[in-house]
Amino acid sequence: MKEFEGKKVFGGIAIGRIFYYSKVENQVSRKKIEDVAAELERFEAAKEKAKEQLGVLYEKALKEVGEMNAQIFEVHQMMIDDEDYNDSVKNMIEEQELNAEYSVATTGDNFAEMFANMDDDYFKARSADIKDISERIISILSGTQSVSELTEPCILVAEDLAPSETVQMDKTKLMSFVTKLGSSNSHTAILARTMNIPALIKVAIDPEWNGKMAIVDGNANKLIIDPDEATIEEYKIKKEKELEQRKLLLTLKGKETVTKSGQKVNLYANIGNVSDLGAVIANDAAGIGLFRSEFLYLESQDFPTEEEQFLAYKKVAETMAGKKVIIRTLDLGADKQVDYFNLGNEDNPAMGYRAIRICLTQTDIFKTQLRAIFRAAAYGNIAIMYPMITSVEEVLDIKKIVAEVKAELSETGVPYGNVEQGIMIETPAAAVISDLLAKEVDFFSIGTNDLTQYTLAIDRQNNKLDRFLDIHHEAIIRLIKLVVENAHKEGIWAGICGELGADTELTKTWLEIGVDELSVSPGMILPIRKLIRDSE
Ligand code: PEP
Ligand code: MG
Repeated sequence: MKEFEGKKVFGGIAIGRIFYYSKVENQVSRKKIEDVAAELERFEAAKEKAKEQLGVLYEKALKEVGEMNAQIFEVHQMMIDDEDYNDSVKNMIEEQELNAEYSVATTGDNFAEMFANMDDDYFKARSADIKDISERIISILSGTQSVSELTEPCILVAEDLAPSETVQMDKTKLMSFVTKLGSSNSHTAILARTMNIPALIKVAIDPEWNGKMAIVDGNANKLIIDPDEATIEEYKIKKEKELEQRKLLLTLKGKETVTKSGQKVNLYANIGNVSDLGAVIANDAAGIGLFRSEFLYLESQDFPTEEEQFLAYKKVAETMAGKKVIIRTLDLGADKQVDYFNLGNEDNPAMGYRAIRICLTQTDIFKTQLRAIFRAAAYGNIAIMYPMITSVEEVLDIKKIVAEVKAELSETGVPYGNVEQGIMIETPAAAVISDLLAKEVDFFSIGTNDLTQYTLAIDRQNNKLDRFLDIHHEAIIRLIKLVVENAHKEGIWAGICGELGADTELTKTWLEIGVDELSVSPGMILPIRKLIRDSE
């Protein structure tokens, strides 16, 4: 039995086996081989296994997300048999006597680059598919495990996890995350909170742990590898107690979120996915304050169509049955990268081409999403908010595009609903000019994750900076106060949808400032409701 320290991003206890995930790209090395025939056989066997896996994924997707979304796995099966691709791999094995992993990786890179440079958008998008199938084959060849293949409930240990990886996981199989990198505000941490599972970062992880029994104690910031029987028993009792406390909180379901003196707060939930709706209902959220719509894009292999988006938004609106659903328009870029967008590398992606900047540049993508949202608004109480705003001009540009979308829908007789339109306040610029912005929109939602990183100049992904990060920095509190005051002066409401909204040490501060809405991960709804109901 051995203990390791970490830093919690979400509390709680998990007891289970470790699934050690390592990224394929770090592992491919170039090796000379002796037995060419055996290497060719390994390649053929890995291809067959890859096609088998894709068949399983196709069936799963068919049941869960329909034929249109499932088709991509059939396309991948066909691409694996592509003659040119196979000739190139086999040629490297036979002629250059190189190992299969390296031959697949090199061929994959060459083909991906060739597709990326084509003029036709369809072929451009295939670049990501080639990378995908190559990585699948390499991971089979090298015996590494893919996150898309979790079969048993497990504690996932990894160097780091990108949103594009977490979206592939079967969330029902995840008991906990443990990573070496990542930070409290990274999207993996946010996912852990959404799922209500313990998570640790900054742990000195070891691939040898794969398959071992472990305990994650999110409350005490530690990981125990190979726990003895007595420790497992002790933690089973602790976990039982946690569940009892949770049951007590459930008695607050159906109750109002109001202080003793009558100050009401709209307590909403943050989601990234239609599949998070179960947790929203189970925790009795009064609405959805942040639907991170970019996860629809992260889950797709290609741009999600208007129809696919419409169906997802409609489902959320209908499930929430008249309660407010605030859809944030796509916030891609920075750590949320999607291959088919071909955003390219940037020196400073967090301050780069992202979120509304993409939407205002590639207006066809933006309009498709807006059409889907406005159409879905006919089926429920939908609102829209726009991320990463820095100026009034951006808001005016958005309004012009929205007016065009509505006019097009009207002209073609497509039914749509009206929506409240707000902006996220997550740049210092937006906070400082919130008096001007308040004249142009229906509400503000403060994104404290980005507002903190930009105000304190601390990259939210970089955990080396932890000692400089004061998440309760006076500058942030003052900016939030200013934003709420400016909102109220113009008669609009202001809420917080960043992680600080769920920070129980600040709940009283938000009440004093007069924040109208808090949008938090579903698991934090009832604890915050309790705190507010217990407040004067
Ligand atoms: C934020 O920045 O606080 C926010 C809610 O958006 P995201 O975490 O998705 O960037
Ligand atoms: Mg943000």
